[in-house]
Amino acid sequence: MDAIETELAIIGGGPAGMACARAYRAAGGEGPVMLISAEGRAPYRRPPLSKELLRGDVDAGELPLEPPAWWAEHDVALVTGRARHLRAVHRTIVLDDGREVGYRCCLLATGARPVRLPVPGAHDPGVLSLRTLDDARELLARLRPGGPVVVVGSGFVGCELAASLARRGQAVTLVSDETLPQGARLGPEVGRRLAAWLGEEGVRLVLGTAVDAIRRDGPALVVRAGDASARGDLVVVAAGATPRAELARDAALGLDGGRVPADARMRTAMPGLLVAGDVAAARHAVAGRVLPVEHWGDALAQGEIAGRVAAEDDEARWDTVPGFWSTIGNRTLKHAAWGDGHDACELEAHPGGAFVARYTREGRLVGILTHERDEDLEAGRRRIGADARAT
Ligand SMILES: Cc1cc2nc3c(=O)[nH]c(=O)nc-3n(C[C@H](O)[C@H](O)[C@H](O)COP(=O)(O)OP(=O)(O)OC[C@H]3O[C@@H](n4cnc5c(N)ncnc54)[C@H](O)[C@@H]3O)c2cc1C
Repeated sequence: MDAIETELAIIGGGPAGMACARAYRAAGGEGPVMLISAEGRAPYRRPPLSKELLRGDVDAGELPLEPPAWWAEHDVALVTGRARHLRAVHRTIVLDDGREVGYRCCLLATGARPVRLPVPGAHDPGVLSLRTLDDARELLARLRPGGPVVVVGSGFVGCELAASLARRGQAVTLVSDETLPQGARLGPEVGRRLAAWLGEEGVRLVLGTAVDAIRRDGPALVVRAGDASARGDLVVVAAGATPRAELARDAALGLDGGRVPADARMRTAMPGLLVAGDVAAARHAVAGRVLPVEHWGDALAQGEIAGRVAAEDDEARWDTVPGFWSTIGNRTLKHAAWGDGHDACELEAHPGGAFVARYTREGRLVGILTHERDEDLEAGRRRIGADARAT
């Protein structure tokens, strides 16, 4: 089989891959571009899967990141298939169907996959996870109206999922080893607010105890966590994600915490190979250190840098303060932070339930979380950057 030659090969059709293709063209890159996506569909918005799509407020047709005509208009070839091998020394990718793709520049943007619980029963077919549109469709198809569902994990995806399912009328129990949702990461005062929001959405909380086992009992599943248990038709595990770094291992690249190291221009140690998004461990130009992030906006930002670097833009570097948003029921939280720890948190409450939490380390602002206080978020984001530049 003849090798296909391309200028820019992008492996992964998430936000990082999509942003790379857009930015390469926008920066004047004129060579052939190929985006390889294992999901069998054009890149789409993932965040609504645990929010609007699950609640029934948008349908799948509204999710694509670009309309079908975009691909031909921008001369980007979309290959729906999996990249099986990356022979980075030879600048070659081997696809699932055996075809070989030779490239000048490659972006690895393979994202992450959900963690499986390391407990007995975790492989039962009634135990689901949520990463892709297919996962969301499967979950929706298997919901029994009003039936009980157990969500495991109180990270943002878990909290969003639990609230969205409750809004659909499911009887939801959220089980987590955290004593408060996001308590360790965002502090107990924020955790208490999240717990109260979930309670108001009708979610039953079983907190502070890790899942030991999942047992099938006829059509139901029983999740056992210490002395507590929860019963559901389905169990949805939202216990975090693992970077999909197998192609980097294949290419003999060293990893950092399971991710692919990169500089602030998204360049790996391998000539011609860039990395962006959830699979990257990129050095932040302003923070001056590696910041692993798992956020939609940062995957877009890093993908954009990679596209500009592929188009030989010398200015492009990752220098924006990372951040995410989360919508739990109808309440939205917005966060901007380096995300690698704080030693103090101060919460400022405002009328109507709005609040601002400011996170500091050695007296410098390193994070801000807001609910209904966008002006404080923006001011905080600017100060986080300024404080880091001043050190
Ligand atoms: C349900 C859900 C809700 C979320 N909500 C928010 C939110 O509200 N705010 C926020 O900031 N973040 C949110 N996130 C996180 C955000 O979606 C991720 O950080 C982001 O999608 C990471 O982008 P990425 O491009 O690195 O990887 P991904 O989006 O994971 O995309 C990677 C793509 O690469 C493909 N791929 C992997 N291996 C191969 C291969 N070998 N060959 C070809 N293709 C391959 C995958 O199939 C996938 O399509 C959410 C995540 C989930 C799952």
